[in-house]
Amino acid sequence: MENCIFCAIIKGDIPTEKLYEDDDVVAFEDINAQAPEHFLVIPKKHIATPNDAEDDALLGKLSLIAAKIAKERGFSENGYRLVMNCNKDGCQSVYHIHLHCLGGRQMTWPPG
Ligand code: AMP
Repeated sequence: MENCIFCAIIKGDIPTEKLYEDDDVVAFEDINAQAPEHFLVIPKKHIATPNDAEDDALLGKLSLIAAKIAKERGFSENGYRLVMNCNKDGCQSVYHIHLHCLGGRQMTWPPG
């Protein structure tokens, strides 16, 4: 998708150190980390918002890959938060779905 920053990362037009990549998904550090650990897992297929997602296996895979990376990075036992924002009220800013994985500190609730 033209003018999509995450599609540009997938294509390699924006150089980004990838934490994980396979045929379906890519994971990389969030550029504006909100926790000591903060990475994003995204599908290679451009899907604008969670409302547009139809592929249950692909959506599930985002979670499984996030858990795998959290384990590799050593914070899965302490825990982490997985977040997918949707549209304006959800504070979505990049319209290519992405699963945030935040960890390395105590989270609070409600999230605000
Ligand atoms: P959201 O508000 O849920 O749409 O989150 C979008 C996230 O993408 C934010 O946490 C941004 O910091 C992150 N982000 C935007 N551009 C980049 C980039 N070039 N590389 C890594 N993360 C980015």
